[in-house]
Amino acid sequence: SDIDWPAFAAALAPVETIAEPVLVKKRSRDFFWYSPILNQKLRTCFGDLVARPKTRAELAHCLAVAWRHDAPVTLRGGGTGNYGQSVPLHGGLIVETTDLNRVLEIGPDFVRAEAGALMADVNTALADAGQEMAMFPSTQDIATIGGFVAGGSAGIGSVANGPLRQTGNILQIKAFSVEERPVEHVFGGSDVLRIHHAWGLNGVISEVTLRTVPRRDWISCMATFDSYGAAYRAGLALAESTRIDRKLASVVDARITGYFPRLTGHIRPGKHLLVSLVPREDLDAFRTLIAAQGGYPDLTLQEAEREALNIPHVFEFAWNHTTLQVLKADRTATYQQYGVNDPADAAGIEALHDKLGDRVWMHHEFSRYDGRVTASDLPIIWFEGEDHLRQTDRLYAANGCTVYDAHTNEIEGGGMKPDYRHLALKKRMDPKGLLNMGKSRAWDAVRHLPPEEIAALAAPTA
Ligand code: FAD
Repeated sequence: SDIDWPAFAAALAPVETIAEPVLVKKRSRDFFWYSPILNQKLRTCFGDLVARPKTRAELAHCLAVAWRHDAPVTLRGGGTGNYGQSVPLHGGLIVETTDLNRVLEIGPDFVRAEAGALMADVNTALADAGQEMAMFPSTQDIATIGGFVAGGSAGIGSVANGPLRQTGNILQIKAFSVEERPVEHVFGGSDVLRIHHAWGLNGVISEVTLRTVPRRDWISCMATFDSYGAAYRAGLALAESTRIDRKLASVVDARITGYFPRLTGHIRPGKHLLVSLVPREDLDAFRTLIAAQGGYPDLTLQEAEREALNIPHVFEFAWNHTTLQVLKADRTATYQQYGVNDPADAAGIEALHDKLGDRVWMHHEFSRYDGRVTASDLPIIWFEGEDHLRQTDRLYAANGCTVYDAHTNEIEGGGMKPDYRHLALKKRMDPKGLLNMGKSRAWDAVRHLPPEEIAALAAPTA
């Protein structure tokens, strides 16, 4: 770009900046390398300068300076997204939020925190008040609460409390516009959904208020089964149980557990695995359920026991951490995201499991939306090229699943933004289109329109 970056950095003062190319490059990456397709596309995309605001006033100043210079702006929390959401495609300024990290208020059933607060720190603060986040991702040690709301969707807790987009989970978002004088707007009600999972395209989140739930004494549980179908049925029964208040129900193919060396000696080898977190008072009911489903409760550990045995948190074998365990050993693996249209159809899942063969290993996560149990599959895929991936997508689609493509860095591609209302908001919040440039396929076609017209446009097709 033709921006004079040293002058730009000087204009940002007193905001801390990082210009050292090695460090800027490091902050231009996220976990896009899970996808060989995104890895090819994004590994040479870097920003020009990093800013680390410590206050809202500093954050607003960064945005005003960027607006003056027409500089692309990419927000970054922990940089743990999987779709290259925080990779600057057109260079420019990276605003890293991790110093804007105060937990501001803990109410009876909510927490209000600055965008850059680490979720592990939020959970620690909540624990003192007898609460915990209604759901959080397994990356809580490095991921921010603002990054979760802007780039994530669900996690540990979602099988009880729904995904982030469930009404009542995101209570409020405060976000700055990018203009000459950035304004902090407050979003409540269903308006929060325009900003949620919009990847920082349509506003710079400064603060979020999320629902919290009473803290429980969680027991880490792992049960094993002789067939994938049996493990899936047990996961489904656990997710549907009204007797057991589980906050995790993950089913993992036996072949994937071969990549869990830290569980060696703790679970039966070569068996299909159900991973869960169950409140202490529901443990007997859990054991009964596992036995009724033909499984073995190999591991049921209190926190102190788990730590003494040096076993990781069980959620590190769930959600997208399952994929990471395999990738740690072999970078030729990848994954995909599929929604199961009828989670109750365990026979259908079993049949598909057999059709997938040697190169695709199932891993299901149960969740809950509007009270109904949902299931998604995040299989390990031994990548043989994009044709094989798309063939796998078609096989899943023909067997009752919906593809939520994890190999695209376009907001329209992942299936979470089925209309253009988030771009109508972008027109208001970011009229120059500086935020996370290049991540919306539709923006260039609609940016000249007034917001009302953008909002009324027909839904995009994938
Ligand atoms: P980043 O990656 O830094 O940013 C994510 C997006 O949000 C980017 O588009 C960025 O530009 C934008 N953004 C960041 N901060 C702001 C802000 N203040 N204002 C506006 N936009 C902003 N995700 C889940 O949902 N559930 C899971 O269970 C889960 N498990 C994971 C497991 C592993 C091993 C990995 C690698 C990833 C996983 N993820 C999961 C994805 C990711 O870790 C989470 O979504 C995480 O919460 C993202 O937070 P972050 O701070 O790292 O965000």
